[in-house]
Amino acid sequence: MATSVMHRVYNFGAGPAVLPESVLEQVKHDLLSLPKVGMSVLEISHRSVAFNHILEQAEADLRMLAGVSESYHVLFLQGGASLQFAMVPMNLLSQGSVADYVLTGAWAKKAAAEAAHFGEVNICATTENEGFIRVPTADELRPTRGAKYLHLTSNNTIFGTQWPEIPTVGTAPVVVDVSSDLLCRPVDVSRFGLVYAGAQKNIGPAGLTLVIVHKDLVKHGSKSLPMMLSYSVAAEHGSRYNTPPVFSIYVCGLVLKWLREIGGLAEMEARNRRKATLLYNAIDRTEFYRGTAQTESRSLMNATFRLPTEELEHRFIDQATVEGLSGLGGHRSVGGLRASIYNAFPEVGVAALVEFMAEFERTQG
Ligand SMILES: *Cc1c(COP(=O)(O)O)cnc(C)c1O
Repeated sequence: MATSVMHRVYNFGAGPAVLPESVLEQVKHDLLSLPKVGMSVLEISHRSVAFNHILEQAEADLRMLAGVSESYHVLFLQGGASLQFAMVPMNLLSQGSVADYVLTGAWAKKAAAEAAHFGEVNICATTENEGFIRVPTADELRPTRGAKYLHLTSNNTIFGTQWPEIPTVGTAPVVVDVSSDLLCRPVDVSRFGLVYAGAQKNIGPAGLTLVIVHKDLVKHGSKSLPMMLSYSVAAEHGSRYNTPPVFSIYVCGLVLKWLREIGGLAEMEARNRRKATLLYNAIDRTEFYRGTAQTESRSLMNATFRLPTEELEHRFIDQATVEGLSGLGGHRSVGGLRASIYNAFPEVGVAALVEFMAEFERTQG
């Protein structure tokens, strides 16, 4: 059988999303046999020396990159961010106690709805009546005295908004869903009680959920929880109460190593800012393209914009796909266009999109 020349398009998909090409090459290179192991990473025991090393290195690199101290557990779980919507309140909330939620988009709403099964939810700020085109300012937040925690979504993947800086107000521990922007810029984890992310947008393949949680929060966990839903059980067992997603953790480890090699989170942020600036400048240049998020709330990761008509939007997506620019359709709930330009998305890919946008406007505008 003839092998075709490798052809990779620019993947603007929102998730699962683009991974660094060097990581994919490494996976391919070592897939049949891990060096010094002689087995594929797909075949090894989660209790083997080789996997111990993979897990320990991934945790060490994450701690290094994000400055995570020993006061926090780093947990490698499953079930996606969506399971964290339930696990957070199951572990931190109880009937008769209150948690504050800030509604900045569809994911935040889902998180709040799930928490309402386990305790009282107070919506301490929302921008829903404005169509979620911005995140609130810190002084719009009205935290509840005595709340168990305050929940925020750092980047709103669907609406293309992101907190320029994540606010910490009040005294309750802050819990942040960082699924679509973890490690896109330097982060001070010590300001938060717990952060969680499904890996498949910015740090690895699907199947892995990362939780960084302060050790104090894990101590009070309810003793009646199912083992698989308890942070303290996961922590006691080093994320191996049962079989973890070995392959996803391995690839995530390679992504973390790549982040270290390129120069860490400061360099990552510089690259992300260059990419976002290039793209937003193209959106703002004429009236033909219209950004949907308020300027101060614009996301570094997901740029959402519209064209004058839906028909033009469909044509834009179709023609872009032909040109090797894939995944530019907005989320099905909001329509329009969305370019997801996560950490691993290359700058040349943004340049290609910007060029396509100018050409499309010239011929169709
Ligand atoms: C994608 C996404 C989720 C859902 O993630 P799953 O891992 O599929 O459950 C939750 N929150 C945010 C901010 C997301 O972008």
